[in-house]
Amino acid sequence: MAKPRTWTLWKDGRVNEEESKLLRKPAADVPVPFDEEGKRDVKTLIDAFLSRDDALGLAAPQIGISKKIIIFKNKNFSEKTRAKSPGDYDVLVNPRLTQARGKEEKMTEGCLSCPDISVEVTRFEEIKIRAYDEEGRKISKRYSGFLARIVQHELDHLDGRLVIDHGGTLSFPKEKEAFFSKLFKFES
Ligand SMILES: [Zn+2]
Repeated sequence: MAKPRTWTLWKDGRVNEEESKLLRKPAADVPVPFDEEGKRDVKTLIDAFLSRDDALGLAAPQIGISKKIIIFKNKNFSEKTRAKSPGDYDVLVNPRLTQARGKEEKMTEGCLSCPDISVEVTRFEEIKIRAYDEEGRKISKRYSGFLARIVQHELDHLDGRLVIDHGGTLSFPKEKEAFFSKLFKFES
């Protein structure tokens, strides 16, 4: 399958106004039990995620679907391998953060929707989530460490929030400095 396009805030030194609008919008709930459209959207996101090996997680708005669905690898984070079978990833529909605790940790994150940039983001060490799985069954999950970070990153997408909104230090390649210094209005 061809690699589906990821929606981005900017590309090749230009801001993507249309794509930014959707990425910035809070996503809508999927009706439960899932209707035909909900089932299709869940499947579209799973297929999009399984077709690429450069993503730890993907949120529906990143492929242009403004719905509360996220998917992410649940192991082998350091390997550039594709998630293949349902045991390799979690799908959360209408996820709700019910508890966040532990030490807050700062770490650099990238995002397919914010190409060429990485940002220091502070996240909780441990979280609890209530959601529905890909079949529409109620689930409750606990995540910790790096996995908790990935899930918090994907949850942010459902609120229209991106890594650059955390106010952390930005890093990008020197040759992109003209664009990013204009975009973020800092002195270079
Ligand atoms: Zn992201």
